[in-house]
Amino acid sequence: MRKQSFSALSLLWRGLSGHRSWQQQWRKPEPKPQYDAIIVGGGGHGLGAAYYLAQEHGIRNIAVLEKGWIGGGNTGRNTTVIRSNYLFNESAALYDHSLKLWEDLSGVLNYNMMFSQRGVMMLAHTLHDIQVIKRHVHANRCNGVDNEWLEPEQAKAFCPPLNIAGDIRYPVLGAALQRRGGTARHDAVAWGYARAADALGVDIIENCEVTGIRRAANGAVEGVETSRGYIQAPKVGVSAAGHSSVVMRMAGVHLPLESFPLQALVSEPIKPIFPCVVMSNTIHAYISQSDKGELVIGAGTDAYTSYTQRGGLHINTHTLEAICELFPQFRHLFAWTIARDEPHPINAPFTIERFRDGYLIDEAAAAAVAH
Ligand SMILES: Cc1cc2nc3c(=O)[nH]c(=O)nc-3n(C[C@H](O)[C@H](O)[C@H](O)COP(=O)(O)OP(=O)(O)OC[C@H]3O[C@@H](n4cnc5c(N)ncnc54)[C@H](O)[C@@H]3O)c2cc1C
Repeated sequence: MRKQSFSALSLLWRGLSGHRSWQQQWRKPEPKPQYDAIIVGGGGHGLGAAYYLAQEHGIRNIAVLEKGWIGGGNTGRNTTVIRSNYLFNESAALYDHSLKLWEDLSGVLNYNMMFSQRGVMMLAHTLHDIQVIKRHVHANRCNGVDNEWLEPEQAKAFCPPLNIAGDIRYPVLGAALQRRGGTARHDAVAWGYARAADALGVDIIENCEVTGIRRAANGAVEGVETSRGYIQAPKVGVSAAGHSSVVMRMAGVHLPLESFPLQALVSEPIKPIFPCVVMSNTIHAYISQSDKGELVIGAGTDAYTSYTQRGGLHINTHTLEAICELFPQFRHLFAWTIARDEPHPINAPFTIERFRDGYLIDEAAAAAVAH
């Protein structure tokens, strides 16, 4: 199943010819009764596993079963930061292997991951932070992973919006910088692996929830019950992120995992202003700017276990307070709504009620739909 290749020339040609000759990126097959291997979960990990199984291990009779749509879990919701500046030898080895895969991934999959090595800076706000972060820098360098210590002025030179004034609640006392770190387009991870796996014969089956796992008397797995019927397979890989414990319980295996929602938010798109990724573990806020212009901001987790994918206003409010202290020029983006507990007059008409009454949605040719 040869896929159309993407190149500057093919984009130009198809653009000029009205975008009429694009192929479907991956098939929408019906589930077969039997596969050699099944992967539960169509996120980046499940799709990546299916691709490498097919590409490197020659197992091609594979299905990826996804209860919703591919990339609709954490893969399509994260803050897209890629880095390998981890402390322990094992972690550095794993994450740096991954970072090196990223460097070639767009070419290998012939899919633009929008991978951008713009640098990841981790801030130190206390003496303890300085000690911990410098330890990371030294450990990383011993492991051949790039990382360097920056004084506050050097950190500001690398990221001009950073506030290094001494009188803020969490003053910046220095930072570690991994220049090879950066961001990528998160959906493209799912789409790129899906397209490449599909080309190798992998069946990607969306809207197919695994509801049970059958095991033989000797314990060996036999197949999975799904919302689209029973499917036989001697091997089942579970890659369902926070739901992995739920799925594994179907096989009678209790994983020692607890799932907490991790929160994130984006601003409206603004002009390019933010050149890198900045993270602060102390205040648990991190920020970068997407290619589309939104400020992409990561927050902390909810305090309680849950499987929801909903935001929590209190976490986002706390995170924005920290972000606005570190980058005061962003206050105007969020300030009005937070300060007044009401939207700006320009935004005010775009209420949630419009999805009930149709106002501003059913206006012909209106861009308001996109809001
Ligand atoms: C807010 C946030 C910010 C993050 N930021 C970063 C970051 O900056 N950098 C980084 O590296 N990581 C980040 N992460 C973590 C990263 O997103 C995840 O580690 C990664 O996406 C997990 O991929 P996955 O394929 O394992 O899981 P997912 O993408 O969650 O895929 C699992 C899939 O399994 C499916 N599934 C579940 N149950 C079933 C079932 N019974 N049957 C069939 N399908 C099922 C789900 O629908 C889902 O699509 C962040 C996560 C969050 C939530």
